[in-house]
Amino acid sequence: MSRKPEKLIDKKGLRLDGRKPDELRPIKIEVGVLPNTDGSAYIQQGKNKILAGVYGPRELHPKHLALPDRTVLRCRYRMAPFSVQERKSPAPSRRDIELSKVIREALEPSVFLEYYPRTGIDIHIEVLQADGGTRCASITAASLALADAGIPMQDLVTACAAGKVDNTIVLDLMDTEDKEGGADVPVALMPNLNAITLLQMDGILSLEEFEKAANLALEGCRKIYPMQKEALKAKYVSVKEVEE
Ligand code: ADP
Repeated sequence: MSRKPEKLIDKKGLRLDGRKPDELRPIKIEVGVLPNTDGSAYIQQGKNKILAGVYGPRELHPKHLALPDRTVLRCRYRMAPFSVQERKSPAPSRRDIELSKVIREALEPSVFLEYYPRTGIDIHIEVLQADGGTRCASITAASLALADAGIPMQDLVTACAAGKVDNTIVLDLMDTEDKEGGADVPVALMPNLNAITLLQMDGILSLEEFEKAANLALEGCRKIYPMQKEALKAKYVSVKEVEE
């Protein structure tokens, strides 16, 4: 394991990876990367590498879970054994189960669930490499995978975290900042509707610090949203070019 760094913010106010407090990690998003799914997306956010694949709407198994008035959204978040420094057991941990629920609940408000009664939509999230903030990056990618599957949605969902390290409020925490820092506030937003679908807090913040962190996380979401739209457009432009 790596040693605890003495300072998370240096004298110039820069973070361990050279970022300013309000700077996102480099983000790369691709849509339609898994041809065997109905919709898919891949995101790299700093050292995070995450794949999301969607199946559905389709007949639900087991059938007794089906609902007469809407589709059932199911989500499975999984970290690969090689995604962290020490091998993670492939069995779902309590954290994996919790994050699967949290991610599903963050995406559910964006989908017109009532359009597809008696069916199910499955979202599979595979974290290939983790470096803090995987729940947020997973939401950003999974929302794109749903859109890629052609599922009618009110808006995309974009997620980002902010938190406190060395008494400074910072955007988009990486693993060391998450573990050694004071607090973490993950937020998910439907940017066009300006509606928040996830708000969590881990650690201790004063009311003012919390407001500052939540607003910074929302700002982060608004910066990621155009990248999501760009990635969606890029897939369909390339499909059009192949057809022509
Ligand atoms: P998030 O990834 O959304 O920030 P957590 O705060 O629970 O969720 O986790 C923070 C980070 O801790 C993860 O992104 C990952 O880098 C690391 N981590 C999570 N689970 C493990 C594990 N089993 N072993 C080592 N590192 C882990």
